[in-house]
Order: sequence, then C-alpha cells, then structure tokens
Amino acid sequence: MSALNNISLKVIGYWPDIFEERGIPDYLIKKYDKDIKGKIVNYLNSGVLLFSEFGHSFCRINCGIPDNLMGSGDLTDGVWSWPEGLAHYVEAHDILLPDDFLDSIKSKNYAFTATEDTMGRINLIKQNLKAFLYDNDKKDNMDMTYWNNWLNQKESNFLANNNKIHYIKMTNSNNKINTKAPLNIPGIKK
Ligand SMILES: [Zn+2]
Repeated sequence: MSALNNISLKVIGYWPDIFEERGIPDYLIKKYDKDIKGKIVNYLNSGVLLFSEFGHSFCRINCGIPDNLMGSGDLTDGVWSWPEGLAHYVEAHDILLPDDFLDSIKSKNYAFTATEDTMGRINLIKQNLKAFLYDNDKKDNMDMTYWNNWLNQKESNFLANNNKIHYIKMTNSNNKINTKAPLNIPGIKK
C-alpha cells in the first residue's frame, strides 16, 4: 500500500484474558533498583500519544487505582508502543519488562527525545492507525508478536521448574471489568 507497510511498532504491555480474571503471575514481578525504576516510569510516561479510542484500562492486580488513572491511550517512542497504564504496573507493582526494551531505553539514558525523524515516523503511523483503527487487516503497524512470544517464553521458563502459577490479585477493592480490546486483537487487552 505504501511505505507505511515497512513501519511497525513493537507493542508491549498488553495482558492475556486470563490475567483479567486471575491477576498477574508472580514470575512477571521483579525487584527493581529504585532509581532505575523511577527512570523507567518517567520514560513510559513521556511517550507520544498514538491514539486513545477504547475507554479506560484497569489494573489487573485490582489494587484500587481508579480506571481513569490507568489511561485509555497507547504511547510510543517511534520504536516501541505501550498502553498508558503500563507505567502504573512498573511503579506500583514492579512488573517485569523485556530486557530488549529496558536495554533500548537505557542506551538513550532513559530520555525520550522527540527528534524530527521520530515525530515524522510517529505521525505517519498515527495517520494510518486513524484510517484503519477498526480494520483488523490493516493493523500491521502494531506488531504484537514480540510481546506475545516474550510472555509465552516467561511462562514456559517458569513452568519448566514449577507446576503451579501463583497469580497476584487483590480482592478488597471493587472489581470493574472493561471488556474493550484495542485494535480488535483477540485475547489481548491493555
Ligand atoms: Zn495496580
């Protein structure tokens, strides 16, 4: 169709349906260095808004944070894309992120710089997503493969040495369910 077909963002931070019911598996939790964690959270909060079309997300750990503070949009740095609420998972729940992502933002000293090149690329993707947001066949700019493989790998590694997954979910706050999925990707929600 156009040069846009060659641009794809690596998506991270979407959760399988089962996490909605059970919570987040504890093998996805990591002890961060506090300073580094602050820098990661700042970076996640500094991405450019790609789109915001699907209603508020909610915390899978059910910690009581209001849904509107979990955001409703998707952010990007021109290479990676993540839901607005991902910063909360890192900040409040120490949720692990892929080393590839962490290395890539570390190499930029945890600072997102909106260069002309990066913004040009992001604006092209934004236009394309806007045109095709509701068309499954045209969501090629958002690549979920990396993240899905990473999640599957984490689970397999864990199950190689353990036979039971412990999910973390709090039960003492009201339990809202938001069934809206971004980009109509089956089984994956932000
Ligand atoms: Zn939470």
